[in-house]
Amino acid sequence: MISPLSGAGRAAPAGGWRTATVAGVRRPVQRSVQLRLDVHDRVDHLPGQHYVVRLTAEDGYTAQRSYSVASAPADPLVELFVERLDDGEVSIHLADVVEPGDELELRGPIGGWFVWDGESPALLVAGGSGVVPFVSMLRHARATGREDLLRIAVSARTLAGLPYADELVAAGALIALTREAYGIRPAGRLHAEELLPLWEPDQTVYVCGSAPFAEAATQLLLASGRPASSIRVERFGPSA
Ligand SMILES: Cc1cc2nc3c(=O)[nH]c(=O)nc-3n(C[C@H](O)[C@H](O)[C@H](O)COP(=O)(O)OP(=O)(O)OC[C@H]3O[C@@H](n4cnc5c(N)ncnc54)[C@H](O)[C@@H]3O)c2cc1C
Repeated sequence: MISPLSGAGRAAPAGGWRTATVAGVRRPVQRSVQLRLDVHDRVDHLPGQHYVVRLTAEDGYTAQRSYSVASAPADPLVELFVERLDDGEVSIHLADVVEPGDELELRGPIGGWFVWDGESPALLVAGGSGVVPFVSMLRHARATGREDLLRIAVSARTLAGLPYADELVAAGALIALTREAYGIRPAGRLHAEELLPLWEPDQTVYVCGSAPFAEAATQLLLASGRPASSIRVERFGPSA
């Protein structure tokens, strides 16, 4: 169980642990949860940054994991999207136990490399829940009228299992489903030729997803001629 925090996070200096009140819990996609958090003494994030969430058991045991922000910086709440892993520790707690009104302890926003400045062209390539930081970028682009800067390619098993599918489809993202056809596209992995129409000069390429997806997508991009220096990768593996 999460211990009561007695508002201790309120006094946290920038970069320290803060308290967030859970304002909303939704489950728009099976086996995942979307949390809307009112972060006390919040520091605005940049699209692409993440928070570390720390859970504390009654016996003092703690576990902490990283979660990317899905909301735009201008959103008054911080939105996280957590995929529930069957053998997971923190993701199961967040998906099954957390309710509106609960308090969570978190630290952030974190990350200076995997961020989008909102002004430069970017190609976003995601697998599964790797779309989360890109949803923040997309929402920020919509808010500032700069959607023209973003090109998006996402891969998932099925459309129903793709987080934020409606927003991604509305943004014109290339959707590659591995287990079912999507429009005229047959089921199958993302391939290099599909990415070619998404290329723009001076794009930074952001890749996000599981370690195997990140590796495969990076190899695809390198083999297609993208310079390594233009590629930034975030792996949703076990966090330190
Ligand atoms: C910068 C960063 C941002 C992240 N953002 C998100 C996010 O927005 N949404 C999200 O759902 N997750 C995100 N993650 C992954 C998240 O931090 C946890 O690793 C994940 O929730 C699993 O934690 P757990 O405690 O449930 O599982 P654990 O108890 O840590 O692990 C259970 C088992 O699953 C394996 N495993 C751990 N993480 C993953 C994974 N991501 N995919 C597949 N197998 C895994 C472990 O090796 C272990 O075998 C992010 C990770 C990083 C580093």
